[in-house]
Amino acid sequence: MAYLQLKGIEKFFGTQRAIKGIDLSIDPGEFIVFVGPSGCGKSTLLRLIAGLEHIDGGELSLDGKAITHLPSSKRDLAMVFQSYALYPHMSVAENMSFALKLAKADPKLIAEKVENAARILNLTQYLQRTPKELSGGQRQRVAIGRAIVRSPKVFLFDEPLSNLDAALRGQTRVEIAKLHRELGATTIYVTHDQVEAMTLADRVVVLRDGQIEQVGTPLELYDKPANQFVAQFIGTPQMNVLPASDVPGVDGAPHDGFVGLRPEYLSVTRAGDSRVQGKVELIESLGAETLIYVNTGGQQPWIARLNERSACQIGQDVGLSFDPQRAHVFDAQGRVVRG
Ligand code: ATP
Repeated sequence: MAYLQLKGIEKFFGTQRAIKGIDLSIDPGEFIVFVGPSGCGKSTLLRLIAGLEHIDGGELSLDGKAITHLPSSKRDLAMVFQSYALYPHMSVAENMSFALKLAKADPKLIAEKVENAARILNLTQYLQRTPKELSGGQRQRVAIGRAIVRSPKVFLFDEPLSNLDAALRGQTRVEIAKLHRELGATTIYVTHDQVEAMTLADRVVVLRDGQIEQVGTPLELYDKPANQFVAQFIGTPQMNVLPASDVPGVDGAPHDGFVGLRPEYLSVTRAGDSRVQGKVELIESLGAETLIYVNTGGQQPWIARLNERSACQIGQDVGLSFDPQRAHVFDAQGRVVRG
């Protein structure tokens, strides 16, 4: 029996079927990340689990108990929002203890829990400040602290880092990972950020148009995508996907199918030394790595990722080589033929 079980979950907005029969089993302590393109339904699915939207079909259970139509406040879940949603006139300590005070918890226990959460989140020195006296990252930590003190059965995060700048995002991401290691709490996290999904998740759920495309560990999705959509959604820069007719030497590729090659599996050679020939169109030097865009006469350039500086010049004729064993093969509908 799964800890959190979704069976055939449905959601309509008017006539739009936004969530289409989602089945998912989540184990205790798992860190699950929902990803997918804008509008695929990730926030809606999280809000259905949180009880912030009405579930129109299917069943939801937590720890063996049906909670499909239970009000949010009775579900024993805590949600952390992108916007923090802190009470502006209350101090950090008051913000964190508010829910427990409402629930008439023992003041000593409340103080202990707030102290503990503040310690875990490095907020001890800010407990008496109000939210406006904090940085964005500190505010987000208070929002997380407010969830922690409630000791919920499940933590729900809706794009919690998207209002932070790049450096703070990175730091807070690492803190969330540490927090999960320390608390071991079951967590569902919505993001459109690949790095967050890959680094935080035990399992990633890839959604598209209200349905699940694939569920797996980050590396399973990266190495064994179930279809072209997942193959191109996971990984930056995207997997190169080209008509099979443009990619010689890949066994088992249907004539109307596609071949996928991750940028790191391509090497750039001298012109004439490889099966695929092209002209360098763009070079992105990122310091530790270099992206070389090669126009081979097809609709899109091939992107090669090198772990070194490159002596290539824009406009230069080059060859592209790869190990055909590394290729992913898709049929004309984008279903995987060979992973
Ligand atoms: P994003 O990454 O842009 O936040 P998302 O994957 O979280 O997108 P949702 O916000 O869950 O997507 O929306 C899923 C679909 O449901 C979208 O087509 C959206 O327009 C629609 N939708 C969401 N909330 C409502 C609402 N309250 N009323 C009507 N339609 C809605």
